[in-house]
Amino acid sequence: MKKLYVSEDWFSIQQVAQLLDANRIPYMVKNEFSLGAVGELSPFDAIPEVWLIDDDWYNRAKSLVDDLRHMSVDEEPWCCANCREENEPSFEICWSCGQVKRL
Ligand SMILES: [Zn+2]
Repeated sequence: MKKLYVSEDWFSIQQVAQLLDANRIPYMVKNEFSLGAVGELSPFDAIPEVWLIDDDWYNRAKSLVDDLRHMSVDEEPWCCANCREENEPSFEICWSCGQVKRL
């Protein structure tokens, strides 16, 4: 098991997961199921992590993730004015609280 990617941004976690799926690289997402599992825990306390099940895939997976991040380098993620959550540049409203994008 090797940690590949950590982000508070679920959208980018999903992108990485889809990328690994597409390349048939076995992985698991940790902390995914802690979300909403316990009432008093804020979902924002759980930072999702993508782990590779087989370390041999690491170099391949890392370069895929680097490519993915490089592709979206022209636009910066924005921070929600209401809840401070980071959002992908393509989002017009905050994924977390629904606040309209305001920079
Ligand atoms: Zn927000």
